[in-house]
Amino acid sequence: MDAIRFQAKFVVESSTRILHPGQVVVRHGRVAATTESTRERPDVDLGESVLLPSLINAHTHLELSDLRFPLPAGDSFPAWIAAVVTHRRDRQAAFEAAATDSLAAETRAAEDPYASIIQRGLHECFRSGTGLLADIVAQPWQADWLDAFHPDTDGQPGFQNDSAEPPANVPTAAWQQHLGMLAHPQIIPMPELVGLQPDRLRASCDWAEETLSSPRSAMLDSYGISPHAPYSLQLAPIQATLARIPKSTLVAMHIAESRDELQWLEHGTGAFRETFERLGIPIPNVRPSIAECLELLASQRRSLVIHGNYLSSKQIEQISRTPSQSVVYCPRTHAHFSHSPYPLQTLMAAGIRVVLGTDSRASNPDLSLWDDVIWARRLHPQVAPSMLLDAVTISAAEALGVARDFGSLEPGKFAYANLLPAQPEWTRENLIEAITASGSNTLRLAPLCLVVGSR
Ligand SMILES: [Zn+2]
Repeated sequence: MDAIRFQAKFVVESSTRILHPGQVVVRHGRVAATTESTRERPDVDLGESVLLPSLINAHTHLELSDLRFPLPAGDSFPAWIAAVVTHRRDRQAAFEAAATDSLAAETRAAEDPYASIIQRGLHECFRSGTGLLADIVAQPWQADWLDAFHPDTDGQPGFQNDSAEPPANVPTAAWQQHLGMLAHPQIIPMPELVGLQPDRLRASCDWAEETLSSPRSAMLDSYGISPHAPYSLQLAPIQATLARIPKSTLVAMHIAESRDELQWLEHGTGAFRETFERLGIPIPNVRPSIAECLELLASQRRSLVIHGNYLSSKQIEQISRTPSQSVVYCPRTHAHFSHSPYPLQTLMAAGIRVVLGTDSRASNPDLSLWDDVIWARRLHPQVAPSMLLDAVTISAAEALGVARDFGSLEPGKFAYANLLPAQPEWTRENLIEAITASGSNTLRLAPLCLVVGSR
């Protein structure tokens, strides 16, 4: 027998199919069957709990996971970007100083300091219920950094942590295979294309193309690519790069994020111009328009418009005509900058697929996507809770082009799942509303794999 049958009070196969009680049969790391019945004896009885699909974070930058607190929003958006650049520069200087310190010679041999920052971010995402994430990566990122990931079972509240023995009737080999396949998140790394100066932009395009052909690992689902933002690049080299890579490569770009960006793109004035002048960056003669950037994204089979805080109605219409294009809303990051209210309902009413991301620790206090769901629920009470759950599960999987494997607990997909302790008043009818409600964030999600792996 190589299948494991889990039973829980509620199994959220998807927002439209809740099993109460439910069983999920897992074989070789994938869902083999689901059933609303307790006729068969489960191998693992999860008791009074809710089993739901792992979350999908459509936008983050793990390379900033060393920040303990978000960087202050500052007087303008370019001021915040300058703070991120300064943080990166100071960090690099500190790493170089440590590398030349002879006393630190032994400790530095083991691990690249950048790799350990990525690991820290991965642990934070995985522990808080994210099974798949699209991560914007920049030099010196390397695919083999992912191989060092080991699940960390500390701090899982509400569940027993007795031993890692397999349950009775489950062969050790099947148990270990289950844990081995699912005890880490999956990642879509998206190398970043950035640079106002032609040399710098060309170097980042070359590095990105090289990265796309670097070896895969068990944690790497596929590669994407990310032209940074309309104010930080020129379109022609990006178009040339996209023409050379497969059309199936997911592409993401920060677009219409701040008012400062709109002022720069439309008039060439404002805080961006002042920042470029202060830093001695030559002022570009040509500035791409948002419409051109949206068109560029539409040239790939799947694309993400990151943020879109200030999209015009014409641009919203342009996106709605491109079903392969999705918008990523980062609720707590949006709040960090005190932007105008997010046009979530307008986008959804236009038929646009809106999914959620955390963005980085430079603008969010942590990388728990579930906290962003709860935040969004509080700010947008008119939006159906099931749509917010979809925005971090099935819709996110569709946006990233991975719905065959992720986004629900339907048979055939990976059995990445989370557990949440069930409350007595929860019913099939009020479940999604209850778990996404304000205040529910005290009920932490825990990845099924970590919970059963440490029993
Ligand atoms: Zn971002």
